[in-house]
Amino acid sequence: MSIEGNQEITDARRGNGIYERLVENMNELHKKGLVFGASVTVTTQNYKEVCSDAFLHKLSEKGCKAVIFVEYVPVTENSKNLAPNDNEREYLEKEINRLREEHPEMVYVSFPGDEKGSGGCVAAGRGFFHINSHGGAEPCPFSPYSDVNIKNTSLREAIHSPLFTALREGNILLDEHEGGCVLYEKRELVESLLKK
Ligand code: SF4
Repeated sequence: MSIEGNQEITDARRGNGIYERLVENMNELHKKGLVFGASVTVTTQNYKEVCSDAFLHKLSEKGCKAVIFVEYVPVTENSKNLAPNDNEREYLEKEINRLREEHPEMVYVSFPGDEKGSGGCVAAGRGFFHINSHGGAEPCPFSPYSDVNIKNTSLREAIHSPLFTALREGNILLDEHEGGCVLYEKRELVESLLKK
């Protein structure tokens, strides 16, 4: 379930009435004894709310068992203000560690925060890759470039696409960067690899 915090914040990002629909869906799953996870996009506007006990307690009460915190990655210059800065990322990291200690009833995943522990970016088949709704295999949802489509190829072949191979073998995934997403920061390089 993609949810961004309380009703006001969720509806502001996803549209009026979405929060209520989500709660109805959660209730329905709960009634059937099914568990689910929640995906939360963390921005400069909701980072405190989404780590709050009140928000997480509500999810847990409805049967949620895992929360994935996904840091907002801007795709245009004028949405850069929504991307968490170093202080906000530090806050998020501390709060997630606190939640793991104090509220072990749910699993918390921080993306890309937890990548530190996995030694850097895990895109382009280093850890996973993403398949978009048209079948295009992309390094990651935050790096939406594709040179191979799984409608025409196997997953094994897709993982060895020229783009994925160049990203892995060029050590681009492990390059120094300012924090947040390395492939977003190096999007021009990724675009140039795609043209080769
Ligand atoms: S592309 Fe960005 S968000 Fe995706 S795995 Fe790499 S660093 Fe993380």
